[in-house]
Amino acid sequence: MRFTGRVGSSGLTPTDGWTTCSLGHRHWGRAGAAGLLVHRYGAGGPELLLQHRALWSHHGGTWGTPGGALHLGESPEQGALREVEEELGLPASALVLGARSVDDHGGWAYTTVLARPAGELDPARLRLDGESTGVAWVPLAGLHQVTLHPGLAGSLDRLRPLLADTPAA
Ligand SMILES: [Zn+2]
Repeated sequence: MRFTGRVGSSGLTPTDGWTTCSLGHRHWGRAGAAGLLVHRYGAGGPELLLQHRALWSHHGGTWGTPGGALHLGESPEQGALREVEEELGLPASALVLGARSVDDHGGWAYTTVLARPAGELDPARLRLDGESTGVAWVPLAGLHQVTLHPGLAGSLDRLRPLLADTPAA
């Protein structure tokens, strides 16, 4: 999610801006937002690819999924893949998309798109933009040891069953 970006050559897109959902929250992204939850099977169970958000950003210092506001006409999958490439330098070709989970607030929704790495994915080789200060595989069983972005923390119960499906052969 970016609040100061997209003021370059293309300018702000029509969907950039704050909106209020039917639950009374203020959200960035008038067409909703999406994030990509990349997961894999580690020795101790599922692991999530999380980024440590830069201190200046919204909910800075927390760990969350790459993501942000959808552009006009974009599907959640397209938006999530665009954001993960912008924020982590991870191209769509390195990922296999899976299920999606929608957190619908009424008038605004956040879609989490699940994905698995298509091959070896070493966080140390990713190219971070200024929005995150680190990226790592975090074991699902160890999530309590890091400060999670509140959006991710609030979605975990819904996402957890989607992580427990059959490992890829
Ligand atoms: Zn809301």
